[in-house]
Amino acid sequence: MARLIFLGAPGAGKGTQAKSLATLGQIPHISTGEILRGAVAQQTPLGLQAQSYMDQGNLVPDQLVIALIRERLSQPDAQKGWILDGFPRNETQAAFLDQLLVEIDQTYSYAVNLEVPDDVLVQRMLGRGRKDDTEEVIRRRLQVYHDQTAPLIDFYQTRQKLMSINGDIPPAGVTDKLKSLL
Ligand code: AMP
Repeated sequence: MARLIFLGAPGAGKGTQAKSLATLGQIPHISTGEILRGAVAQQTPLGLQAQSYMDQGNLVPDQLVIALIRERLSQPDAQKGWILDGFPRNETQAAFLDQLLVEIDQTYSYAVNLEVPDDVLVQRMLGRGRKDDTEEVIRRRLQVYHDQTAPLIDFYQTRQKLMSINGDIPPAGVTDKLKSLL
């Protein structure tokens, strides 16, 4: 049973790779960014609370995403495996996830770290044209990544769960390497 966590900076190709792998493994692709963007588009209470943080490239408060993940991982389709894309984003969320998985009697196989140099990330994001992909917001998101999310590389290394993969090669090559984790 595949349960994978995707780490990596914004623009590293997490979303693309997580989606391909989920399709191959027939398990849900759970992207907190996608769920939040959907909530913003529909102006739900979650979306209304999350919007200003997202527009500025900051992390949405932990309690909002934690509630969202608790709910999502309890759904029937998540019982046969999952790929988490964009969660956890900091140590509080990572500690919560470990605790939640004990509660629901699940474990993850790996935290995958897609390695891509910063200048490549910025170029990729500028080419993507998402609403929160202006240069200023992109720089802020990268800073938030280095300050809050990159420490998770050590967090998972310490737990001997880290799998680092070069993400600076054509996407199909990355997918090929990832397939062995399914
Ligand atoms: P992403 O699509 O993963 O790049 O996420 C887009 C935006 O959604 C981020 O810049 C954050 O504002 C918010 N977001 C996504 N996942 C999380 C998370 N796990 N914790 C806090 N904010 C998040």
